[in-house]
Amino acid sequence: MTEQNHSTRRQMLRAGLAAVGGVGVGMVAAGARAQEKIDPKMVQYQATPKDGNKCSMCVNFAPPDACTIVSGKIAPDGWCIAYAPKES
Ligand code: SF4
Repeated sequence: MTEQNHSTRRQMLRAGLAAVGGVGVGMVAAGARAQEKIDPKMVQYQATPKDGNKCSMCVNFAPPDACTIVSGKIAPDGWCIAYAPKES
């Protein structure tokens, strides 16, 4: 391999790394958009408990009436499929 080939290879590697870096920035931007909350219908939110599980027992519940991942007013006695019990 000649010195020119080496140099071309290095340039290609740098270009590849820059492309990977670009993807990273894109993913961070997508992550920021993902901060928007989920529509309650998408997670089958209901204002009543299910099988004894309810929002007030979920790690995502934000008292007095909100959720960190689901939008809108969330009842402490509500429930959705994203329910994740707090560790006791
Ligand atoms: S069950 Fe959990 S994730 Fe679902 S709405 Fe209630 S607090 Fe949010």
